[in-house]
Amino acid sequence: MLRSNKTTEEWQALDAAHHVHPFCDHKSLKENGVKVIVKGEGSHLWDSDGNKILDGMAGLWCVNVGYGRKDLTEVAARQMDELPYYNTFFQCSSPPQIELANKLSEVTPEHINHFFYANSGSEANDSIIKFIRLYWDQKGKPEKRTIIGRNLGYHGSTIAATSLSGMGAMKKLGGNYLPEFEHILEPHYYMHGNGMTEEEFGLYAANQLEEKILEIGADKVGAFFGEPVQGAGGVIDPPANYWPRIQEICTKYNILLVCDEVICGFGRLGTWFGQNFYGIKPDIMTMAKGLSSGYMPISAIGFSDDVYEALHYSGVLANGYTYSGHPVSCAVALKNIQILQDEKIIDRVASEAVPAFREGLKSLSKNHSIIGEVRGQGLLAGIQLMKNAADKVQFEVEEQAANICRDIAIKHGLIMRAVDRTMVVCPPLVITPSEITEFLEKADA
Ligand code: PLP
Repeated sequence: MLRSNKTTEEWQALDAAHHVHPFCDHKSLKENGVKVIVKGEGSHLWDSDGNKILDGMAGLWCVNVGYGRKDLTEVAARQMDELPYYNTFFQCSSPPQIELANKLSEVTPEHINHFFYANSGSEANDSIIKFIRLYWDQKGKPEKRTIIGRNLGYHGSTIAATSLSGMGAMKKLGGNYLPEFEHILEPHYYMHGNGMTEEEFGLYAANQLEEKILEIGADKVGAFFGEPVQGAGGVIDPPANYWPRIQEICTKYNILLVCDEVICGFGRLGTWFGQNFYGIKPDIMTMAKGLSSGYMPISAIGFSDDVYEALHYSGVLANGYTYSGHPVSCAVALKNIQILQDEKIIDRVASEAVPAFREGLKSLSKNHSIIGEVRGQGLLAGIQLMKNAADKVQFEVEEQAANICRDIAIKHGLIMRAVDRTMVVCPPLVITPSEITEFLEKADA
C-alpha cells in the first residue's frame, strides 16, 4: 500500500509552501519540485508517480539492512507499547538502553567497552569534543584543547561539528566558526599524489599531522579526529599505510585518536568497523546511521577503558539530550545488530557483494572518458568525474559535474549523490547480485 493519497503536483505544492529543507538549493527546489518518496522495500524505493528506484545511497548512507524490515517495525511497536519513553538522566535506565550498550561492547573492538547515547552523528561528535577536553582536564593537562581534523572531513552540522569538519561550503553559512580546530590535507591520492607512489603519499599525508602538531605544540593538541574512509567529502580512502602512521603519531605525542565511524560502522567496508579494516585502535569512536539502519534516530559514542576511567569521576557529567538512549531507538538498534549478526550480512558483504560491486565499478570506469578513477572500499565508492580523464582535466564549474550526476539519477531510476566532482555510492548492505547488475547497468546508461 503506497501512502500517496495526493498527486505528485499536490505534494510538491504543499512541500514548497511550508517545508524548509536541509542541504537543498531552495531556488532549484521551487523551480523543479521536490521528489516525493513514498515506499521502500529491500534496496528499492518508489516515488509518488509509482516509479521504482534503486537506492544507491542507502538513504543517507544509513539503511544498511534495507527497507521494509517488519522485524524492526514490530520491535519498535512493542517498545512503544511497553515504555515509549524514559530518560537516562539522574541515575535511571531501561532494558533496551542497558541491552544495547552490552551488545555494542560485544561487536565493537575489544578495547571499547563504554557507551554514551545521543540522537545523531552531529550530537555525538559535539559531545566528544567536550569529552576530549574533560579528559585532558582530568589528566591535569587542560591546555590540550585543540582538535585536528581534515580538509573535506565531515562530522556533522552543529557549530562545533562544522568547525571540526573541513567542508568549505558549510563554513560560509553563518561564518565565525569556533577556535581551536585545525585541519590537515585529506589523503586523496588521485588529487594530491603528484607523482608519488601510493605508499609514499600515505606517509606524506599522515606526516602532515606530525607537522601540524609541532606547529601548534603537542601540549596544546587534544585529539585527531577522522573518518576511516572520508564519506561526504567524496569517498576518500587513504593508502594502507596512512592510518597506522596516524596512530603512531598520536601515541608519540600523547594525543587521543577519534574514529568517526558514522558511515564506515556496521559493515560498510565488509568489516564491523573501519578501524577493523585499517587495523587501528582509536580511543573514542562515533556511531550513528547503520547503528539502527536509519529506522530510528540514534547515535552512540564508544570509549576505551582508559578514556572512560578519566571521565568516570565523582562529579555530574553535565552533558546529554532528552532523547539520549531513547528506548524505542535502542530497541530498534539492538534488533538491527542482531539482524546483522544472525543473517551474517557483513560476512556476505565481504565475500560476495564487495567483489562483484568493485569489479563492476572498475569495468564501468573503462567505458566512460569522464571517469577519472573509482575509489573507496567495501560497499562505499566515489566515482571521480573529469572533463577529460585521460589528461586529468577537471570540470571548470563544479556544478557541471553535479548536474551530470543528478541527470543520471533522475533519468535512470537510480539514486547516487553528487559531491562536488564525485558521484558517491553507498547501497544497502543487503543489495543482491542481480541488484548490483541493475546498479551497474543504470550507472552505465
Ligand atoms: N559523521 C559522519 C562521518 C557523517 O557522515 C555524518 C553524516 O553524514 C555525521 C557525522 C553527522 O551525522 P548526523 O547527520 O546524524 O548528524
